[in-house]
Amino acid sequence: MNAKERAQYRAKLSALRDEIISAGPKKIEPNRQDTATVGVSDEDAQALSEMMQTLASQQNKKQSEVVGKIDHALRKIDADPDEFGICEECGDDISDKRLSFMPYATLCIECQAAHDPKRGERRRHAGDYK
Ligand SMILES: [Zn+2]
Repeated sequence: MNAKERAQYRAKLSALRDEIISAGPKKIEPNRQDTATVGVSDEDAQALSEMMQTLASQQNKKQSEVVGKIDHALRKIDADPDEFGICEECGDDISDKRLSFMPYATLCIECQAAHDPKRGERRRHAGDYK
């Protein structure tokens, strides 16, 4: 990857980071009764409210993970530019396609797949027959 391409990814990462930060965390609303819950039993409203809170906190967790990955990628571009776009596990180039979709990716598609718990399970299972 040349310096120009790297600069493009850097700009992309900063923009993505700004976007996530400015969107801010999802508000986790306290339980409340309003017109939306009219006709819904208290129990259902409570369950719905809990579900929404869980969902919001999962999304916030995911967002902060992505920001962490973006920071990691930005630090890498500044401190270790040659390492950017290289898989941290096998040292192969991460494909342009993958980087354009996910500029904060640290693993190539093969290594990422190996980390995928579902695939890992299948692989472990196959190993049982050794
Ligand atoms: Zn790899």
